[in-house]
Amino acid sequence: MDCLFCKIVEGKIPAKKIYEDEQVIAFHDINPHAPVHFLVIPKTHIATLADITEDDRALVGHMIYTGQRLAKELGCEEGFRTVFNCNAQGGQTVYHIHLHVLGQRQMSWPPG
Ligand code: C5P
Repeated sequence: MDCLFCKIVEGKIPAKKIYEDEQVIAFHDINPHAPVHFLVIPKTHIATLADITEDDRALVGHMIYTGQRLAKELGCEEGFRTVFNCNAQGGQTVYHIHLHVLGQRQMSWPPG
């Protein structure tokens, strides 16, 4: 399967890793949109948020738990934004689910 983020999981493509455990990897986004912008991805391949099943609920919870924990560690105590883009209309470009965590600037609403 030709998946960019699976290649990061396998170590075939470099990434600036922040955290890794048995289930997830977090790394700095290559094209950051905030002073802090990192992604949390599962090690297993799931293409989009619309593809998760009941069995994935704990994994997605762990992604969110990891994201907020790292956000605080990286100095985002004042607040941060979390985003899952889903499919083309949702702005997804890499089809391996990832939680964006952005912080250390004022966010606006609604997103574009
Ligand atoms: O949500 P979306 O699919 O658009 O986000 C993909 C993200 O993956 C982008 O923010 C992009 O900068 C990031 N990316 C990365 N490292 C890569 C390729 C893409 O951090 N090697």
